[in-house]
Amino acid sequence: MTTNLLDFDLNGLTAFCEGLGEKRFRATQLFRWIHQRGASDFDQMSDLAKSLREKLRGCAHVTALPVVTEHISADGTIKWLFDVGDGNAVESVFIPEDDRGTLCVSSQAGCAVGCRFCSTGHQGFSRNLTTGEIIAQLWYAEHFLRKRFNTDERVISNVVMMGMGEPLQNYSALVPALRTMLDDHGYGLSRRRVTVSTSGVVPFMDRLAQDCPVALAVSLHAPNDALRDNLVPLNRKYPLKELLQACNRYLEHAPRDFITFEYCMLDGVNDQAEHARQLIDLVRGQGADNVSCKFNLIPFNPFPASGLKRSSASQVAAFSKLLSDAGIVTTVRKTRGDDIDAACGQLAGDVRDRTRVEQRMAKLRTIEIKPAA
Ligand code: SF4
Repeated sequence: MTTNLLDFDLNGLTAFCEGLGEKRFRATQLFRWIHQRGASDFDQMSDLAKSLREKLRGCAHVTALPVVTEHISADGTIKWLFDVGDGNAVESVFIPEDDRGTLCVSSQAGCAVGCRFCSTGHQGFSRNLTTGEIIAQLWYAEHFLRKRFNTDERVISNVVMMGMGEPLQNYSALVPALRTMLDDHGYGLSRRRVTVSTSGVVPFMDRLAQDCPVALAVSLHAPNDALRDNLVPLNRKYPLKELLQACNRYLEHAPRDFITFEYCMLDGVNDQAEHARQLIDLVRGQGADNVSCKFNLIPFNPFPASGLKRSSASQVAAFSKLLSDAGIVTTVRKTRGDDIDAACGQLAGDVRDRTRVEQRMAKLRTIEIKPAA
């Protein structure tokens, strides 16, 4: 069995090349070919010695994930469904905006956290993705988009680890993928433009702060432990006080001076004025409980199994105003890609029921790609 070189960050690739008797600068050349130029054929890598190319052909490969479907929304959002084997699939979503191109990346097939409002959570957990499977989403999307837009310039400027899965429950695969995103010989993204979103896995928030501090978003979704225990079951293990203290420890190392709190607006559940007031008290507490933060309010995307409803636009606006009036920077997430189910919490909805998933994926493969508007 040969090794997929997408599994390595630059240090890993260096060790691999040293195992072949090659120097570090060869690994750097190889890394640049793969990630900066999107090359997968060693014969394309013209400045690598022929002898190295031959060695690589015998023991390595650069293989992306098979694309099951690709849907392009009228608003430019693109959603890919990638096959990760054994009837599992994960999704990535590209969201173009005037000043940036953001790719939302998955870290696990399914998720074990089981948040009530999340369709991935209802799907259950299948397995962790490898580093190669995480980075393959960026590798494919970046080089697909360069061809589509006919450019040699970087198209993806931001990565958010907000697709399927809890990234901090797949830590050992996540960190080399993040390092590849940040590496100047890889994608060269700044730490501020790579965001890990967590439901609050406190010990790994502390480790990430040491190992690879990128921007952090925390899925908060509730202003008190009783409600959060219900919406985000991980709260029973790491309750709000511990979580907020971990946020403050993280901020000592973070590339931004605030944590983004994600808050999914659920009609009648967590969207009342009282909840906003509790949130203000929560983050404006004393000492270690006072967290420098921004809030991102997310309109819920209803799915039948949740039994939950989306808050009205007026309720979201009123909630947002209460937070803003208290001096907390608050944004409301724009809904993108509605026509292709690419909005938050809808990832891989078509394949979440694992029964007869193979047949369903075969059917999906036959769906035509929608043309760009
Ligand atoms: S919101 Fe995130 S952590 Fe919660 S179930 Fe969904 S993917 Fe998992």
